[in-house]
Amino acid sequence: MQIKCDICELMFEEAQITRVTPASYLGTGYPSITSFCPECFLKFLRKAQAIYGNQEAQKISNLKDFVNS
Ligand SMILES: [Zn+2]
Repeated sequence: MQIKCDICELMFEEAQITRVTPASYLGTGYPSITSFCPECFLKFLRKAQAIYGNQEAQKISNLKDFVNS
């Protein structure tokens, strides 16, 4: 069965498609379940991990301020 990548809108075999929830990384301005082909998923992952990493670092920093103030 062929499934369309929601990003590049090309058709891929179902086994190649990764379904993720961008909203859980990027907030509610982004879709819930989204189908990614391998190439678009890699691009998404690189950017989402950078944003997610920054958010987590900020939370740790907030906590340090809270504990130490
Ligand atoms: Zn794609």
